[in-house]
Amino acid sequence: MKDSNFLKENNARHMWHPMTSPEDSRVNPPKIITGGEGVRIRDIDGHEAIDAVGGLWNVNLGYSCEPVKQAIAAQLDRLPYYSTFRGTSNDAVIELSWELARFFAPDGLSRAFFTSGGSDSVETALRLARQYHKLRGEPGRVKFLSLKKGYHGTHFGGASVNGNANFRTAYEPLLPGCYHIPAPYTYRNPFNESDPERLAQLCAAALEDEIAFQGADTIAAFIMEPILGAGGVIPPHASFMPMVREICDRHGILLISDEVITAYGRTGAWSGARLWGVKPDMMCTAKAITNGFFPFGAVMIGDRMIEAFEGNANASIGHGYTYSGHPVGAAAALACLAETERLNVVENAAARGAQMFEGCKALMEKHEVIGDVRGGYGLMVAIEMVGDRATKAAADKPVPLKVQDVAYQNGVMVRVSGANLIMSPPLVLSASDVDAILAALDAGFSAL
Ligand code: PMP
Repeated sequence: MKDSNFLKENNARHMWHPMTSPEDSRVNPPKIITGGEGVRIRDIDGHEAIDAVGGLWNVNLGYSCEPVKQAIAAQLDRLPYYSTFRGTSNDAVIELSWELARFFAPDGLSRAFFTSGGSDSVETALRLARQYHKLRGEPGRVKFLSLKKGYHGTHFGGASVNGNANFRTAYEPLLPGCYHIPAPYTYRNPFNESDPERLAQLCAAALEDEIAFQGADTIAAFIMEPILGAGGVIPPHASFMPMVREICDRHGILLISDEVITAYGRTGAWSGARLWGVKPDMMCTAKAITNGFFPFGAVMIGDRMIEAFEGNANASIGHGYTYSGHPVGAAAALACLAETERLNVVENAAARGAQMFEGCKALMEKHEVIGDVRGGYGLMVAIEMVGDRATKAAADKPVPLKVQDVAYQNGVMVRVSGANLIMSPPLVLSASDVDAILAALDAGFSAL
């Protein structure tokens, strides 16, 4: 490894970071992470911290995870690459699709289309949705509906259904025919509705309105995260996604569940759709499928789609990636699925998530700067900071950064997203790790 000075000097000189301005990388140099073990990371100065970010919502099993590393190494030795385009396949990915069909059977999803990550998974689902309607003789169904504050990656399709201007404006014009409805975000919403169940009804009614306005026969799909992640951990009321499913069914619109964050246990259930008792037509997954150790994703596909595409020689899928079904990613994913099952990770996410949520709510009693605490479903929790609780005016930009900084000095890495602190630690963390995260946050808020 190059020495610390070399790395610090060259970070901003030769690399542009995602979601950051080159100038910001220069003025506020990033922490350079050089090691990871269990739920902890180590930076170039030797400072250790519990990674309450879990990489980027993806390192569910922690950084050690020997079986996954060994599976990757063994696959690299045996067959480091082969494509799954027409005419070839590979054994690792066939075994993975069989395993995924077993795991996702209760969600009604039994086919997989493999990708290289979350944005690719979203792009795949949007394209297959359009093709589905063409195959069924409704070529006019091309539009997409989604939620404001939703995040669906950064390809042009995903950015077009994204509901956050930060990821859109600089890249417009985006895909035509994408429309957004209000998110079931109880703390702030255009209806001024603070009851989650009534808000869910209002948002569902807004979806009905938009469908009527656009014309159902012009709409291909509705895409949503079962719990909005990057938008600031927004769990809808339990009635929301089932209402969406019913509305989509009534209008012949496909429902795409974007579970790039929520699949594989993060919510304390196997998938977000299962948490809400909904069977989507497609589910986008990535991230934790390989514990972040290999760029990989899978779109899981349900019965309606299967019926339209299979047994039809004209249903050629004109879409795919060089790395669709990469055998090393597949081997990593197989090992991750086995570990997730063996370690009862999903149950631990539910228990530790409840502890974290209650702990963050207790911090809210103590610190005025906390306006809202969201979570309650596994290990995705957000603390929204405000300048004034009564007006809900956003906290000044440096405030969350200061809390983050002090928490880091106290041995915990958390993520700042706007006025939110976001916690999405590995799902294998212990009760005492959660206590340590809460103590570091407390120290951060106390330092303001
Ligand atoms: N969809 C959702 C819900 C996500 O959270 C993300 C990434 N955070 C993506 C899509 C895009 O995934 P990727 O960054 O792997 O392309």
